[in-house]
Amino acid sequence: MINVRGYAAANAKALLGPFKFERRELRAHDVLIDIIYSGVCHSDIHMARDEWGGSIYPLVPGHEIVGRVSRVGSDVKAFKVGDLAGVGVLVDSCRQCTSCKQGNEQYCEVHLVPTYSGLEMDMKTVTYGGYSTQIVTDENYVLHISDKLSLAGVAPLLCAGITTYSPLRHWKVGKGHKVGVVGLGGLGHMAVKFAASFGAEVTVLSTSDSKQNDAKKLGAHHFVNTKDDAAMKKARNSFDFLLNTVSAPHNINALISLLKVNGTMIMVGISPEDLSLSVSGLISKRKTIAGSMIGGLRETQEMLDYCADKNIVSDVEVIAMKDINEAYERMIKGDVRYRFVIDIATL
Ligand code: NAP
Ligand code: ZN
Ligand code: ZN
Repeated sequence: MINVRGYAAANAKALLGPFKFERRELRAHDVLIDIIYSGVCHSDIHMARDEWGGSIYPLVPGHEIVGRVSRVGSDVKAFKVGDLAGVGVLVDSCRQCTSCKQGNEQYCEVHLVPTYSGLEMDMKTVTYGGYSTQIVTDENYVLHISDKLSLAGVAPLLCAGITTYSPLRHWKVGKGHKVGVVGLGGLGHMAVKFAASFGAEVTVLSTSDSKQNDAKKLGAHHFVNTKDDAAMKKARNSFDFLLNTVSAPHNINALISLLKVNGTMIMVGISPEDLSLSVSGLISKRKTIAGSMIGGLRETQEMLDYCADKNIVSDVEVIAMKDINEAYERMIKGDVRYRFVIDIATL
């Protein structure tokens, strides 16, 4: 077994603190990655605090992982020692079902192995995430990382990046579309960068007026404060798409009213409480509400390559491991510009 140091939550009420644990010895197709940076996703907070139910403790969060390969299993073909490597939200799946065969492993119909707080395919071994010194992952679930980009800025691409890239691609968002990004946090700021890069006309819909200048710098063309009733009224019937990244309960009916006839709101934010939907708002203008979860391995690599080509990274604030609990509090207040990334050397 491989001894690893990390940070864990002991239960839903506990702060995160130091935790030692073991990773499996390398199998034939495994790579051992020395983690350099680990991004902090709002899902880490939802999971550490059991806000969605089903969390397994002790819980080591972290699914935006970049590092360097330090050892490879006997049959590994895709990586060699010294390569940069990334791990995102999933580390295995059944590999047999229709979704897996299509490269949509995130929608595996049999069993999806999340990077942390889930069970391996043996349905026994608990997974531990990237707030840790090393990870062992099957090469088929590891991404190649370009050395052209800032490594700290790349880490959030593994979740925030692919979660926003994938729906924008699926719905073919681009030139001629008016897109609203709801919530300017980790996911939201990547959604703005991608939507603008794909040629769409982008509006940030935010509760924080203080983010207005940043929104423009990130590539947005317009800004609407969702608490401003007059501005919301003016924006009615104007969007082809809304990408909703909000992490907490909020009024989705007010947002739906902003869609044009035939418009679509894509949910990626996962509020711990169900949101109430007024169906008449959909029916009266043939609107659609949809959902999307991360992206498959192939598409994640495509997104990373796109970012390397277009020089797209996340805007990050690098923190020390010991500051993680404070970072969580700041994220909950919407006070992050725009992703915290842990420097694992501080662990
Ligand atoms: P984040 O950085 O904390 O950003 C969330 C943003 O939502 C905040 O910055 C804030 O933006 C807005 N917001 C927060 N509370 C709000 C409220 N009560 N009403 C209205 N707006 C509010 O979080 P994140 O890491 O981007 O994650 C966002 C959500 O996506 C989380 O629920 C996370 O679990 C989920 N997620 C889903 C997937 C997936 O595959 N679908 C993947 C990753 C994450 P403003 O200040 O601009 O209003
Ligand atoms: Zn995430
Ligand atoms: Zn499957």
